[in-house]
Amino acid sequence: MQVLHSLEQLRAWRQQVNGSLALVPTMGNLHEGHLKLVDLAQQQADHVIVSIFVNPLQFAANEDLDRYPRSFAADCQALAARGAAAVFAPTVADVYPRGLSQQSFIEVPGISTILCGASRPGHFRGVATIVAKLFNMVQPDSAVFGEKDFQQLQVIRLMSTDLSLPIRIIGMPTERADDGLALSSRNGYLTPVERQQAPILFALLQQIAGQLQAGCAIEPLLTEAEQQLQQAGFRLDYLTVRRRSDLDKPQSADRELIILVAAYLGNTRLIDNLAVNR
Ligand code: AMP
Repeated sequence: MQVLHSLEQLRAWRQQVNGSLALVPTMGNLHEGHLKLVDLAQQQADHVIVSIFVNPLQFAANEDLDRYPRSFAADCQALAARGAAAVFAPTVADVYPRGLSQQSFIEVPGISTILCGASRPGHFRGVATIVAKLFNMVQPDSAVFGEKDFQQLQVIRLMSTDLSLPIRIIGMPTERADDGLALSSRNGYLTPVERQQAPILFALLQQIAGQLQAGCAIEPLLTEAEQQLQQAGFRLDYLTVRRRSDLDKPQSADRELIILVAAYLGNTRLIDNLAVNR
C-alpha cells in the first residue's frame, strides 16, 4: 500500500493507476464502519484510495478539532490489511495553500443550514469544499460515504449533481456495535456509564420507525420520544422525521422518510438516523 503525504506524490501515483479508482474520504481514527466502506469500495472499482485528513474548515472554533483522535499508524495497518491500494494523508498547508480565511468554498444551499447545519454553522460548507477538493485531487470514478452521516451524504449528492461531477456517489449502511450504537470516532469520548446509555438512541429510532409504519401520526411520537431521551440523560439537539431525498418536512404523500436524531450525552454529540417507508 502506498502512503502519499503530498499532492505531488498523489498526482504521480494517480497517473500510473490502471483501471477504475474509488475514493473513501475519512478523518482517520478508523473503526470497522470505515473499513466496511473500504470493502464496499473494493467491489465498485479496481483500486481503492482512502484519504485521511482532519479538515479544519468543517470545525467551528468551539469544536473538537484539536482533540479529535488521531491514530495514523494503526489506520495504515488496518487499511493495508483490507487491501487499499493507497492512503492519501495531506497536510493542512497542502490542502489550503492560501490559508483558511482566503479559501474559495462550495456551499450547497438549503440543506446545509438545517438540522446539523443549524447547530454547526459553516460545517457543511467545510464538508462540501473538502470533498470537492479531494475529488479534484484524486480524480476518482466513484466515492463511498456512510449513511451514518446522512445529511452529509445528501449534501455531497446534491453538490455532485449541481456541479455535474463525473463521480458516482455510493452510500453505505451504518455499521453498529452489537448493542445498536452506531460506530463513531467520537464514541471514544463517552465515559463507561455514558457508553451504556448511548444505545437508547438507536432503540428509540427503531421504536419510532415501528410506530410510523403502523400509521401513527408523527408529532405525538416525537414528543414522547423526546421525553424518553431526556429522562435517559440526553440533551436533545433535534429529533425529527424528514423526506429522505432532500431532508425537507414530509408532505402526506411522501412515503420515503428518515428519522434523524442529534443529542448530547455529557459533552459528546451523537448523531444517528433510520430510514422508514410508510
Ligand atoms: P469520518 O472519519 O467521521 O469523517 O467518516 C468518514 C466516512 O465514514 C464518512 O462517510 C462516514 O459517514 C463514514 N462512517 C463513519 N461511521 C460510520 C459507520 N458507523 N457506518 C458506516 N459509515 C460510517
